[in-house]
Amino acid sequence: MVVDAVAFSRAGRVLEGSRKASEFVRLTQGLPVPQDAEITWRVAGRQDGGTGRLWLDVHAQGAVRLVCQRCLRPFVLPVQVGNTVGLVKDQAQLEALDALESAGEGSDVEYLVADRQLDVLALIEDELILALPYAPRHDVCPGTADEPGHQDVTKPSPFAVLEQLRKH
Ligand SMILES: [Zn+2]
Repeated sequence: MVVDAVAFSRAGRVLEGSRKASEFVRLTQGLPVPQDAEITWRVAGRQDGGTGRLWLDVHAQGAVRLVCQRCLRPFVLPVQVGNTVGLVKDQAQLEALDALESAGEGSDVEYLVADRQLDVLALIEDELILALPYAPRHDVCPGTADEPGHQDVTKPSPFAVLEQLRKH
């Protein structure tokens, strides 16, 4: 799905849709299957009345199956993206804004060189990849003592074992 980013934003156009997580190949490569959650997405262009600046509001919502870095079991994590991307006219302007930002003077906004051939789904995919946690984990891993109602009662405590040894 390719649009002219400048024309798209100027006209205040909106594109939206939904597709299976597995169709975002870069997002889900190396992750456990199935990736059958539906990801809904929306990109809206707008132009700032005063400054004439062009923006893309990027939203996506769905779920991705990941591997828990604590118990190494797969689980489904809801993901959500809500970002505003500023369009700049060329690489030089992009670098100037990045330099401002690293000097702590710019705003914490993401910028993109305005592309006549912007692949909207690739943009959504980039944002989803950025939204994934670096080390995904269950809030509470299944089968652990922390999980309410699933205490492991069959395993004797080390103290009980010690007690048995003492009796003999
Ligand atoms: Zn876990």
